[in-house]
Amino acid sequence: FYGLKREIGIMNKVLALLGVVVVAVIVYTAMSPQMDDAASSTDVAQTSAAVEPTTAFIDDERIKNAESEPGNWLSFGRTYEEQRHSPLTQVNKETVGQLGLAWYKDMNTNRALEATPIVVDDTMFFSSTWSRVYAVDARTGETKWSYDPEVPGEWARKACCDVVNRGVAVYKGRVYVGTLDGRLVSLDAATGSVVWEVDTLIDRTRFYTITGAPRVANGKVFIGNGGAEFGVRGYVTAYDAESGEEVWRFFTVPGDPSLPFEHPEMELAAETWKGGSWWEFGGGGTVWNSIVYDPDFNNVYLGVGNGSPWTRVIRSPGGGDNLFLSSIVALDADTGAMKWYYQTTPGDNWDYTAVQDMALADMEVDGEMRKVLLQAPKNGFFYVLDRKDGKLLRANPFATVTWASHVDMETGRPVENPELDYTKKEQWVLPGPLGAHNWQAMAVDEEAGVVYIPAQDNPLIYGMSEDWTQSGLYKRNPGGWNTGLEFGRITQLVVDNIADQPTPKGYLKAFDPLTGEDKWVVEIPHYWNGGVLSSAGGLVFQGDALGMFTAYDKDTGEALWQFNTYTSMLAPPITFEIDGEQFVSVLTGTGGGDLFGGEPLPPVAEHASLTYNNYGRLLVFKIGGTEQLPVPTVRDRSIPVQADLVASNDQIAAGERHYNNYCAVCHGLAVRSGGSIPDLRRMSEGTHTAFNQIVQDGLLAANGMAAFDDVLSNEDTTMIHHYVRARAEQDRLAAAGEVSMGQLTWQ
Ligand code: CA
Repeated sequence: FYGLKREIGIMNKVLALLGVVVVAVIVYTAMSPQMDDAASSTDVAQTSAAVEPTTAFIDDERIKNAESEPGNWLSFGRTYEEQRHSPLTQVNKETVGQLGLAWYKDMNTNRALEATPIVVDDTMFFSSTWSRVYAVDARTGETKWSYDPEVPGEWARKACCDVVNRGVAVYKGRVYVGTLDGRLVSLDAATGSVVWEVDTLIDRTRFYTITGAPRVANGKVFIGNGGAEFGVRGYVTAYDAESGEEVWRFFTVPGDPSLPFEHPEMELAAETWKGGSWWEFGGGGTVWNSIVYDPDFNNVYLGVGNGSPWTRVIRSPGGGDNLFLSSIVALDADTGAMKWYYQTTPGDNWDYTAVQDMALADMEVDGEMRKVLLQAPKNGFFYVLDRKDGKLLRANPFATVTWASHVDMETGRPVENPELDYTKKEQWVLPGPLGAHNWQAMAVDEEAGVVYIPAQDNPLIYGMSEDWTQSGLYKRNPGGWNTGLEFGRITQLVVDNIADQPTPKGYLKAFDPLTGEDKWVVEIPHYWNGGVLSSAGGLVFQGDALGMFTAYDKDTGEALWQFNTYTSMLAPPITFEIDGEQFVSVLTGTGGGDLFGGEPLPPVAEHASLTYNNYGRLLVFKIGGTEQLPVPTVRDRSIPVQADLVASNDQIAAGERHYNNYCAVCHGLAVRSGGSIPDLRRMSEGTHTAFNQIVQDGLLAANGMAAFDDVLSNEDTTMIHHYVRARAEQDRLAAAGEVSMGQLTWQ
């Protein structure tokens, strides 16, 4: 299957190249009178550049000068600086009250949409679930073309956080997308046909996925991947944008020490890993989200992820910083050679990725103008680094942080809180693995010196796995999660220690990265909210978990306009202008890393996608827009009676253990789905009948529900079924007031 696909890709590539050459020769001949100074044989290839596609022809110069065409949104963060602050002003504090829906497009999915669309001239390019790509008329939403990479449904199991995609890159008439199953595809921007396709994965047996948007610059496409929760080794590859040939590859963590180093930086990194056998787990350090190109220094910055496993006593028991985990790494864009790095969380122990969106800015710091890099990673500190050398300029907390007291500005290192060492005793820690800020992009208002951050206080009780606690051993599970924490045990710890849980909260913050002060804070009753857009019109746009798409006054945080989308949002909004008319756009639909949390527990508010449904849509607004969204009915969440449930407490407990280790990540803690993946308490009779076939044989693999027969026996599956039914009955009776939570026992 794969080989065939790749061959088709290569054939397309050959045909495309032939096409370019044939057209080039014709054009060259026709145009030769004007091209007298270009008449040598090598110029045929150069001439071909002049006849490359004209649709969406964005080159480096055009992106560098993005400020001169503010109506377009040319790259992931709008410009190379990725500030997500638009100069457009038609929609402003005075006019935003007249903002209305211009058009919307149903994406026919109820799983999370996370993409930032790209708008070039009158076309919008964006990705949906399963790495599908769409080109639509940005005025009307009419589809120009769509592309489906046909990701095998069972690959969903290899994704920590659903079948999402955060966007495409558009460059010189091509559209680039990374697919969930690890391919990088170049599409013709005019037609959506495949130009070339490469397999980016070094090991297809490991649980690698691509969900991040590729970045393009200098004729190269940069792409990383995810998978550190399962156990992979992180790396980023640069491909030639035209041909798909590999140009360089940078590994973020060292590999098997019995093999030679792939590049000199690995020698430096290897000295910081001690004891253990991290390479068997993979080590982690995946670059699954932010890669930023800096034209000022010709750098590419990698935002590097957490360790694999999470716990450092397993990963590197002899200590060490474990480079380049949780780091920002600056590479030469042309060679992939490292220029500098800054590690936000040395010896990461909490899943504190530094993959969150990075922005570039020019800021006056301590009386000197500096070219800075800004990032609010999961660990709760906001970093301001000098892009010239990586020097740490600021590290102020932007949310509640308990794992460390502060960052020592002399050493550049965080000072950890020794009282929260969870290898000795389980501990509530802030932030938890969803971070104080996750991939939902922030926006940077350079002029005001303020960043707008979708922040959260979202704790987890960390505790070592039972295996490690009892024996000091932790064995890799090739078919599942390898965090060092056992989710079954964590669930129990949450239940047992809920009284001590710091309250989860969500915020939109206007934060001064230099002083660490909040200019204003809007509290949102759910923690898992959308990315942010700010504009010269004086507005900050954000979609939240409660389904409200809101325009805030960027100076005060006052909500000036709201639109009920009836669906929770994660994706960052964008804005663009066509023929003098400004549009604001956002994708709706939640999920991602919060699937595990499932149905929120009070005091966290219920989110819109649970109340109604998770409607995957593209919404586009303009002044005077009059389109209406259908008003949905409230979801029927009644739980059917579980007839003839006969199972012992031991069987149900065994089922719970398996459920928590393999099922909870999508279907939710305690069998309470967060609203985008089916809630197993409400399975139909047919699903109950086919339960073991679904889990064992992959009956629904095409929908994303893979077979788990490599890690679960038929008997294990039956135990899971007992547990799911017991939880359903428990909640049904609790809802009916017949029994309170926790009182129910089985025979
Ligand atoms: Ca992670």
